Parts: sequence; structure tokens; C-alpha cells
Amino acid sequence: MDARLESIKDTVLAWNPGEAEFHQAVVEVFESLGPVHDRHPEFLEAAILGRLCEPERQIIFRVPWTDDSGRVQINRGFRVEFNSALGPYKGGLRFHPSVYLGIVKFLGFEQIFKNALTGMPIGGGKGGSDFDPRGRSDAEVMRFCQSFMTELYRHIGEYTDVPAGDIGVGGREIGYLFGQYKRITNRYESGVLTGKGISWGGSLVRPEATGFGTVIFTQEMLKTRGTSFDGQRVVVSGSGNVAVNAIAKAQALGATVVACSDSSGYVVDEAGIDVELLRTVKEVERGRLEEYAERRAGVSYVDGGSVWDVDATVALPCATQNELDGGAAARLVRSGLLAVGEGANMPSTRDAVAVFQEAGVLFGPGKAANAGGVATSALEMQQNASRDSWSFEHTEERLTEIMVGIHDRCAATADEYGEPGNYVLGANIGGFVKVADAMLTQGLI
Ligand code: GLU
Repeated sequence: MDARLESIKDTVLAWNPGEAEFHQAVVEVFESLGPVHDRHPEFLEAAILGRLCEPERQIIFRVPWTDDSGRVQINRGFRVEFNSALGPYKGGLRFHPSVYLGIVKFLGFEQIFKNALTGMPIGGGKGGSDFDPRGRSDAEVMRFCQSFMTELYRHIGEYTDVPAGDIGVGGREIGYLFGQYKRITNRYESGVLTGKGISWGGSLVRPEATGFGTVIFTQEMLKTRGTSFDGQRVVVSGSGNVAVNAIAKAQALGATVVACSDSSGYVVDEAGIDVELLRTVKEVERGRLEEYAERRAGVSYVDGGSVWDVDATVALPCATQNELDGGAAARLVRSGLLAVGEGANMPSTRDAVAVFQEAGVLFGPGKAANAGGVATSALEMQQNASRDSWSFEHTEERLTEIMVGIHDRCAATADEYGEPGNYVLGANIGGFVKVADAMLTQGLI
């Protein structure tokens, strides 16, 4: 790392002790930014990096609720409003027992660059709770969401901060959250949340957008090597919203997705994953992946283990952070891996990224490859602002344009800085320069 940046990094890490994921995200970005500071000494003078690493506002709150047996439960709620140089804070809410400040800050930090790369007018933020929705009834989830919004409402707004979904927060939760926001404020403020239902202000393609976008981005990377998804053997991790839609899109483009996973194990389906069955098991029944294997001939279910043990030419990690380590990366490379598109946020460890890059594997980092979700959220905000709703075709066309644009900008930035094909560098520099320029122009903020 550049020596000037090293000391800023040390300060940031010391100032935010015990937040391993946030540290990882910061270090990974800093490693790309040396050359930018050679060209732009004004960024150093104005301490842009130091300011960028300190959220504009961090909110931590108590979320009390009662479970179905009448017992009082207490969870912790978070919203980190990281950077508003380019627009209102924008980013999802994650409900998962692993959530603590370090996770929310890593996600919020990544979101700043991701949102900048989309070219849309959105700043970066993230939130969530350590609430575990698994095994909870609809009524419990509703009571939790209502309590969560009873505190959050005062901090958000269509011009202030616009939350959406992430792990554990989908259409059902956004519905409950919106209902409570409307009830408290007496405002039908559609643009305060994205990922809404289609009949009440949501956007077509938003549910599919993150998975579709990841595949579109990866397809653009493959094109630079004169190939495409057609005929590729793909392994996807996860089986949630991002994974399911990535599988659907990859197969629509001619690939065979032979495996996907959940937190208990993975399935191998050499004929190609049956997306309809997967949707039924995961989205309609909220069941486990094991049930997919039980209902389809020729599918094996592996309890525990790693989905990255399955050979692939294209890997799409769509589960969660740090799910693919250096050992798994090396094994995938030996099996003939061509490309990786990150559908999740920071799913590859730093070791894994190094292995992919050394082996010349095309590597699309999450902040570029999975930006289709938040980009389509920004399209939802546009539709809400104009009280309009667009067709599926038009919205998908916009998403495709945006993803191709992000790919091309990352590639052009990597070329400009003398590292052709380095999408990590391209994404970090491309996103950073846009935010840094805006911050510089807006004075000491
Ligand atoms: N949680 C998604 C992400 O990681 C989407 C955020 C949004 O739509 O605001 O980008």
C-alpha cells in the first residue's frame, strides 16, 4: 500500500477497533488508491479519505417486540448514514444474527462506491438488525418490523435516506416497514423505501435486478475474452433472491448452473437447476434447499461442506461476506475457472481475490458486479418521483445499460491506470474519484 495512505489506514483501523469486516473493506479500497493520489494531491490536502471513512451519522437503537408466546424480545437496530455527497443515503437493511456495527459499516462503506459507479444520484448507507427472521411467524416479523420502523422513521425520508432490502429483508418486510412509516407520518411517501410491492409503488425488475445485473456484468467481462455464458458450467452460492435470479439469467444465456447452496449444505444438479422448483421451495414455502433435492431426480444434496468443491468455469458467489477463501479459490482455478462475478457483498476474502488475479481469472468485485440491485432501486425512486411505472422491458433495458456502463467504466479506468483487466482497481478508483470530486466541491463536509 502507498505509504501516504498507510498512515491514514492505521488511524482509521485504530479508531474503529473490533470491526474486522469494516477494516477489510477499507484496506481493500485503500490498496487501489495510491495512483489516484499521485494525480490528485488535492484529495490528500483536503483529507478526503479520512473523512470518507468516518460515517456522517451512525444510529444505534433498541428494538423491543413481543413474540407469539407473549415474551418480550430485545434486538439492536442500526442505520449508518455514510456519505451523502452524491445524493440521499441509499442502501439496504440486513436482518441476520451476525449483524453488528462492523458489518453495517463494511456494507455502508462498499455502498458509497457501488452507488457512485451506477451513475445515479444516490449516496451510501446501510442498516439492519441482529434479529433472526428464521423460524419466526409472519406476525412476529410484522411486530419486529413495526417496532424497528417506530424508531427508524425519524431518520429517513425520500430526500434524506432511502432504505431497501438485503439479507433477511425482502418484499414482506418492506411491506410491514412501509405500512408503519405511513401510519406514523401520515404521508404516502413512496420514495422513502425501495423494493416495494408492484401494486403500491414498487418497480418491475427490482426483485430480479441484483442477480440479473451480476450476470450481465459477468457476461461483459466474458466478452473481453471473446466468450459468453453460452455453454459455461456455473456454480452459484446461496439460494436467496440474488442467487435464484442469477441462476435464472445465466441459464437464459445458455449456461448450465450445476450447483447452489444454503447455510446447511449444497445441491449438485448436473442437468441444470430447475429455477421454478427452487423458487417454490425457497420463496413460496420458505423451506431448506435439502427439500429441492428430495423432489427432483438425479440431484445430490451434500450436508455441510463447500459448494466451491464443485468444478466450474464461472463462479457466482451470491451468499454472504467471506464465503470463498484462498483455498477454495485455488481449487476453482485448478478446475479451469474463467470468471467470478460477485453477487454478494465482499464474498471473496482478500486471499481469494489475490489467487484469482494472479491466475488471470476475470474477477468482478461486488461493488461493481452486484450494483444492479441498488441501481434499479434508483429507477424505482425515479418512477415514484414522477408518479409513473415503467414496463418490465423498459426497466430491464435501463438495468442492462447501467450494468454495461459500469463494466465499461471499470475497464476504462483500469486501462487508464495501466492495469488492464483489473476490475477491482477500476471499481475502487472509478467510484472514489466521483465521490471525492463531489466532496471537494461541497466544502469541508
Ligand atoms: N442491499 C442491496 C445492496 O447491497 C440493495 C440496496 C438498495 O437497493 O438500496 O446493494
